[in-house]
Amino acid sequence: MMTIHNYINGQNHPPATGEYLDNVNPATGAVYGKIPDSGQTDVNLAVEAAQAAFPVWSAMPLEQRHDILRKISDGILARLDVLAEAESLDSGKTIAAARSVDIPRAALNFKFFATALLHFASESHAMPGAISYTLRQPLGVVGGISPWNLPLYLFTWKIAPALAAGNCVVGKPSEVTPHTAFLLGEICTEAGLPPGVLNMVHGLGPRAGEAIVRHPDVKAISFTGSTRAGAEIARIAAPMFKKLSLELGGKNPNLIFADCDYDRMLETTLGSSFNNQGQICLCGSRIYVERSIYARFKKDFVENVRAMRVGDPADPKSRLGAVVSKMHFEKVLSYIELAKQEGGSVLCGGHAVQMAGRLAGGYYIAPTVIEGLSLECRTNQEEIFGPVVTIQPFDSDDEALALANGVPYGLSATLWTNDLKRTQRFARELQAGILWVNCWLLRDLRTPFGGVKQSGVGREGGWEAMRFFTETKNVTLAE
Ligand code: NAD
Repeated sequence: MMTIHNYINGQNHPPATGEYLDNVNPATGAVYGKIPDSGQTDVNLAVEAAQAAFPVWSAMPLEQRHDILRKISDGILARLDVLAEAESLDSGKTIAAARSVDIPRAALNFKFFATALLHFASESHAMPGAISYTLRQPLGVVGGISPWNLPLYLFTWKIAPALAAGNCVVGKPSEVTPHTAFLLGEICTEAGLPPGVLNMVHGLGPRAGEAIVRHPDVKAISFTGSTRAGAEIARIAAPMFKKLSLELGGKNPNLIFADCDYDRMLETTLGSSFNNQGQICLCGSRIYVERSIYARFKKDFVENVRAMRVGDPADPKSRLGAVVSKMHFEKVLSYIELAKQEGGSVLCGGHAVQMAGRLAGGYYIAPTVIEGLSLECRTNQEEIFGPVVTIQPFDSDDEALALANGVPYGLSATLWTNDLKRTQRFARELQAGILWVNCWLLRDLRTPFGGVKQSGVGREGGWEAMRFFTETKNVTLAE
């Protein structure tokens, strides 16, 4: 049994509550460790440590801050195998995916923002007889709260820019996947990060998470997770006038036109539907196909999905591992039942996969394709966040746009076409923060990342993140 600790002031701390939560391996369903069920006292300690560290960290010469963040990046890569195994153990994702995507990206987050801090600049405005310049100062102590689907990847996507901008951080990783964040503490200490600059408190959202949000000395909250929790955080933080960045749920459309490069589209659409068991906020869960190629797409897609292997996350031959938890497993299966009740036809999958031996208690779901559902039904309106997609034909550009935009979410959209005019129109009219044309999940970390409507408020990435984690102050000097 492995015990995870809070990381406060550069040291491992048991929770002040003395209470722990089970940490479950979703591949087997077995409890393999325990994690702190932290509360207000732990958060208070973490905030105090962060406040004490702030004067030194915020005043540190940029090159020195850069060097420490680069060492953290190197430390992550040096432990690639250990971290990938830990990520898989916690989340059920394949080790191969954690090794090739999650952990390298966590290292890159630190490397990217280490470099960004050296180049981050503010504006000046000259006028006759005076000059105005803008200071961009770190906020102080900031909070970062992250979800379970890309645990270290998304946690570091918040922490790295916050630290780069000179803030001290109190972070809370998901209670479902705390392992890699725990290992990050050791890496930060080794890299020479001064104690208190980064603190990590483990526990439940409504307890440890809310304590961070409510703390009056936490100046900003960067949150990634469900729309429901985002709304709750906004309700608490808005009257306290905290800066808020909310990256929330999605129900992303894939729009496939007959003039696309078919083979590339097909291969990418298999990934955008089922990578990480469909548990990526950017997965396209509503697939709309121009009617003239609908029959061909349906046949090819379903044939390929049937061939996708669900299996042991440690087996390199597994294309899908387990979904993240029993609760999520039951939620996804309940949506498949709902889809049937709503009149959908399950073309493939539609059921749990029963493994043998050690994996018999794990949470596996066959990749599922459903057709015959209207836009209005709950299956097409609500986020399922699992290996389930719906497919549907359309007849015109107008209809495709109406289908894509007809949900409360607006995170990302994917468009497959070689028609430039159509691309320009869709880029203007799609209600989404991110649009991929003839690709998916092609990420440049300098670009703004985030959603519209119920998918969130604010943008992460590049200068957007550095601006979020700083406060501007305008100074005007007269001659
Ligand atoms: P969740 O909202 O249940 O939890 C996310 C984090 O918030 C966890 O650390 C949790 O403990 C904490 N939390 C929950 N309630 C809280 C509260 N009241 N106060 C403070 N903290 C609280 O989400 P999840 O189930 O972990 O993750 C899945 C969701 O995340 C999906 O909706 C998915 O679309 C979304 N997501 C969005 C993005 C994006 O960039 N937009 C990226 C990944 C995941």
